[in-house]
Amino acid sequence: MKINIKNYKQIVVLTGAGISAASGIRTYRGENGVWQEFDVGQHGRVDRLKDNPQQIWTLFGALRAQLKSAMPNQAHLALAALEQNLRPDQQFTLITQNVDGLHQRAGSVNVVELHGNIRYTKCANAACDLAPFTDENTYADAVPRCSKCGDVLRPDIVLFGEMIPALPGWQAKRALRECDLFMAIGTSGSVAPASNFVRSAEYAGARTIYINLDPMEPRNPAFKEEYLGKAEELLPAML
Ligand SMILES: [Zn+2]
Repeated sequence: MKINIKNYKQIVVLTGAGISAASGIRTYRGENGVWQEFDVGQHGRVDRLKDNPQQIWTLFGALRAQLKSAMPNQAHLALAALEQNLRPDQQFTLITQNVDGLHQRAGSVNVVELHGNIRYTKCANAACDLAPFTDENTYADAVPRCSKCGDVLRPDIVLFGEMIPALPGWQAKRALRECDLFMAIGTSGSVAPASNFVRSAEYAGARTIYINLDPMEPRNPAFKEEYLGKAEELLPAML
């Protein structure tokens, strides 16, 4: 089934862990979620910045290490090609829950990262003016400190127990308001954010498409079309 992209003006895509599976990124939630050796909900909680910041780095430093050898796959590349081939009157917004930065590495430009980007490090002190910076260190042995204020440095991602930052949340809402094609790829269709986003898209009158390895459970009626399979196989054929 081919989607005729030229029929749409405001295209919004939401991606989750499923799109990066073929790039070898292990998810830290869910069934095959490999961070099962850790209780991520506890070890990855924002509270650990205060009482055990090394745990944060043990967990997310390992994810950063995986990324050194990870490459964008055919699904990332298909979305990047879609954006590059748009007419000037078409808008495309790629909202992702992934923190791996693989969409940008594939060539996607208008990317809204709901949960931040693991490839950046920032200061844990919200009042500090140290700008987030790209960083490949995994800090397995020692917690890094801010050169400006001395506080702990942390990965620039949304930790468990933290809210989605205001800016990407607003960017996602704005894109959905006028959306006429919405696709959720590699993410659960029945829980937030996909469940909220598809409802907004439905209100806007969009065509709503769900693409994932697993069927929706329970089925979310706001998605009018469902395609089951691997994103890296389905997307190049559909787009
Ligand atoms: Zn600082």
